[in-house]
Amino acid sequence: MAKFEEYKDIFVFVEQENGNIAEVGYELISEARKLVASIPSFGYKVVGVLLGKDVKDKAQDVIVHGADKVIVVDDDLLKDYSTQFYADALTQVILKYKPDSFLTGATTLGRDLAPRVAARINVGLTADATKIEVDTEWAEKTGESLLDVTRPTFGGNLFGTIVCKDTRPQMATIRPKVFEMAPSDETRTGEVEEFKPVWTTTDPEVFVEKVIEKAKADVDITKADILVGAGRGAEGCLDLVQAVADELGGVVACSRAVVEDGFLPKERQVGQTGKTVRPSLYIACGISGAVQHCAGMDKSDMIISINRDPQAEIFSISNMGFVGDVEKVLPLLVEAIKAAKAE
Ligand SMILES: Cc1cc2nc3c(=O)[nH]c(=O)nc-3n(C[C@H](O)[C@H](O)[C@H](O)COP(=O)(O)OP(=O)(O)OC[C@H]3O[C@@H](n4cnc5c(N)ncnc54)[C@H](O)[C@@H]3O)c2cc1C
Repeated sequence: MAKFEEYKDIFVFVEQENGNIAEVGYELISEARKLVASIPSFGYKVVGVLLGKDVKDKAQDVIVHGADKVIVVDDDLLKDYSTQFYADALTQVILKYKPDSFLTGATTLGRDLAPRVAARINVGLTADATKIEVDTEWAEKTGESLLDVTRPTFGGNLFGTIVCKDTRPQMATIRPKVFEMAPSDETRTGEVEEFKPVWTTTDPEVFVEKVIEKAKADVDITKADILVGAGRGAEGCLDLVQAVADELGGVVACSRAVVEDGFLPKERQVGQTGKTVRPSLYIACGISGAVQHCAGMDKSDMIISINRDPQAEIFSISNMGFVGDVEKVLPLLVEAIKAAKAE
């Protein structure tokens, strides 16, 4: 008997708040579909795990986004996120169903929950992964599915690939927008199974005051379809960067340098220690193209860069580049967009 014969399927934690499912869950389900397709002989399913209160009616949504099966854990204690009860319930799900792999979004909630569960079941966890592949050679040789999970390391200057050969499930957290969400398919059908956790205690160990967010402090750059990114080279003309964004119906984002220099808030920062974005258009203005910045935007559909240094790294990942001073190029761009709109 192969060492991990009882373990099968790729499970994805489907995060929700007040019944609203976070897109990252669907992005991970889309990627999990590719992973199971790379080892068809294993017959693995993609299974969504949905925790909450009154969330059962959301299971079909998870199926139309690519899950073959959804395990629903519906309980009063799971109404709002609690590290204790979510970790208790998820640990029990894993111990019962024995998934081969378990993927969680690297959101605030996911970063709190996944390591706690991994520690309880004594398995490894690769945090903040940017790429996941099945080692198909290993699968053929051993009959086991082994994930090669890649993540930035040494301050983002290198990428390391981590494998967990000795324990199951193989756990990883992945940031929102790292993987693309496949279009939903309303005709998909799947199985929904309810799981009832057994609580050892229903008393919360810690009560943290719940603060309901009234309004977002700033825009959410991860949701914008067009981003105009300002780097240190554009700090003197942020009004022009904003003008380009306004003309295109886009949003201004920035590099860490611009945040550190106090020009824009941290919520606008793209990159390894900022947000990962995947817009259809990213215009990089006066951004050098450091690996830590590119890690957050290199999957944009189209990248256009403006930089006065023809050797700037950003050009190597750009679809189109302008060598020039942003203060001169941006007004021309605004005029060109206005003219194109008037046509
Ligand atoms: C652990 C770690 C995490 C990090 N995380 C992030 C992150 O999440 N996001 C991030 O962005 N960075 C991050 N960084 C910092 C990163 O390494 C770079 O320092 C940063 O991205 C540089 O920002 P910049 O390109 O805006 O500035 P600079 O490197 O100063 O580049 C400015 C660019 O503008 C050009 N320029 C200057 N003036 C003009 C002009 N008038 N017209 C046209 N071009 C002009 C210059 O040629 C240059 O290429 C991280 C670093 C570390 C060590």
